[in-house]
Amino acid sequence: MERKLTLTDRVYLSPCKNYKRENVESALIPMLENILQDNGFADDWKGKNVVIKPNLLAKRAPEAAITANPLLVELAAAYFVKRGANVTIADSPGGLYLPKLLERLYETTGMRHAAENSGARLNLDITSEKSGEFTIIKPLLEADLVVSIGRLKTHMLANMTAAVKNLFGSIPGAKKAEYHAKYPDKRDFCDMLVRLCMENAPQVNIMDAVVCMEGNGPASGTLKRVGALSGSANPFSLDLLLCHLMGFTPGDVETVALSIEKGLCPKTVGELNVIGARLSEYATKFKRPKASRDAGLLKLLPKTVAARLKKEKKPVILEKKCIGCGECVRSCPQETMGLINKKAVIHRENCIKCYCCQELCPQKAVVVK
Ligand code: SF4
Ligand code: SF4
Repeated sequence: MERKLTLTDRVYLSPCKNYKRENVESALIPMLENILQDNGFADDWKGKNVVIKPNLLAKRAPEAAITANPLLVELAAAYFVKRGANVTIADSPGGLYLPKLLERLYETTGMRHAAENSGARLNLDITSEKSGEFTIIKPLLEADLVVSIGRLKTHMLANMTAAVKNLFGSIPGAKKAEYHAKYPDKRDFCDMLVRLCMENAPQVNIMDAVVCMEGNGPASGTLKRVGALSGSANPFSLDLLLCHLMGFTPGDVETVALSIEKGLCPKTVGELNVIGARLSEYATKFKRPKASRDAGLLKLLPKTVAARLKKEKKPVILEKKCIGCGECVRSCPQETMGLINKKAVIHRENCIKCYCCQELCPQKAVVVK
């Protein structure tokens, strides 16, 4: 089956006030079927390779709202299993990409349970291949259909992580660090994310806005309940909708601004064809990540003062919280972190302020100051 990007302006928004099975099912399945239709697919999945790509950033329980909700993954997988497809659940988390670690990740995030209940298999193939500009994990390259399932969260570097940013998980493990190192500038990094999504766009994009994360996302923020599911065949249109829903403008979210510039989605949220619930009923204000709040304040200051303060904003280790697990050290693209006396340390001179250390710390022991 051909994998092509469907640049539709149709986005779906459905009420889903909690994760009760009947609520999720009645919001998710009609949305999924509509998106398949928008792609022009016939209901013929027998023998096809379908990959469900949840956001599995790190080994955290579903209640932490850092990873995709397992019930959404289970229901989407079951839909295609029932129709005779070979369904695989696959993602590459931050940090190392090894079968043993994937097994633990699946257990903690509820994906093992989702696979057992749906009849899907869990990916343990850690091979990858170069495809165009990017190196992509094998199951995603071999899929006839990719269903991306993420969770709406703020993000320290990109401000928002939604449909476009979820694709960063298609790059294998530590290879992600190379992209951070190659694109230390935020705009360049976001441009890379948009290109990655253009080349490897899932045909179905579902974003969970039932319980989201605000503040210092994607892993150290606080929970925020919105009570809706959203989706589209076009990840760029979906992100435009979600940016508005969070109370951000496209100027606040570089990936959205770039998608508009490249003509991948309408210029304004008003030009989207929103189907289902009224966006105004769900539009709210998410607390911004600290780095973004500071950037907003810096705009108000004289340029010279702002430049000095900007330079000083950096990740800092809270020693009391640090348990010396080394996750941050392994995730640092600049290899500028280490452990001394079982506490993380940052050698500042090479830090590019990508905030991967903050993103992957399980103890919230890395803060941005
Ligand atoms: S800062 Fe966090 S990730 Fe790094 S060693 Fe300490 S607890 Fe682990
Ligand atoms: S110390 Fe943290 S913010 Fe700096 S380069 Fe390493 S991971 Fe990125």
